[in-house]
Amino acid sequence: MAPECPTDSTRLLIRLIIRMKIGDHRKMFEDNKIFQRQFIDLMSHFNDLQIHDICYDEDEITRCAKNCLELPSTDTLLEIYGKLLTNSFAITDDYLSNVGVGIYLSTSILNHSCAPNAVVGFNGTDQTVYALLDIPEVRVDKICISYIDVALPSWMRRELLWDRFFFYCHCHWCDDYARYIDHLTAFLEQFGAKPENTVKLPRVPHGCYMLHIFGDF
Ligand SMILES: [Zn+2]
Repeated sequence: MAPECPTDSTRLLIRLIIRMKIGDHRKMFEDNKIFQRQFIDLMSHFNDLQIHDICYDEDEITRCAKNCLELPSTDTLLEIYGKLLTNSFAITDDYLSNVGVGIYLSTSILNHSCAPNAVVGFNGTDQTVYALLDIPEVRVDKICISYIDVALPSWMRRELLWDRFFFYCHCHWCDDYARYIDHLTAFLEQFGAKPENTVKLPRVPHGCYMLHIFGDF
């Protein structure tokens, strides 16, 4: 019987535990003067993980560590997992298929926008940031990438960002969509439509609003 292969996240979590044990978490892994930082600088969202009842796969971690790795305390493990969850990148091949997961300290500092001005790409495990627009000033607060698929509808993007990254997106794509729904609701209310009906209007089976606007769907 073939041995069970742990998920990419579990393998990365095990590698991070080992690197923390040997003190690598205090080293600068990235030799990039613009984005330089350490693993310990990453946010873990520890409280958010507990509030949302999100945890690593305890059975799989225990199975992987069996007899060869002493695991840290549950809280420390959750801290590391939180850093992994909110800062890791899916590594893709030339056909944009996911081939792994990794933490890139320098680029994990970049903020999210559903209308990003940059995108990350991979050559093997080497990561490069490509500008989609002219970015006159190369500063971390001037560069935005998308953490999720921007082709998803606004409500789904907000939901995913909230569930995975614990923030409510206020990029102009999301806010414009919300404003549009408000205007539509107010408009329909003039004709006697009830708000609860207008908000539920018109949905397709998988829950996506069928109101095409802003190229957002
Ligand atoms: Zn957004």
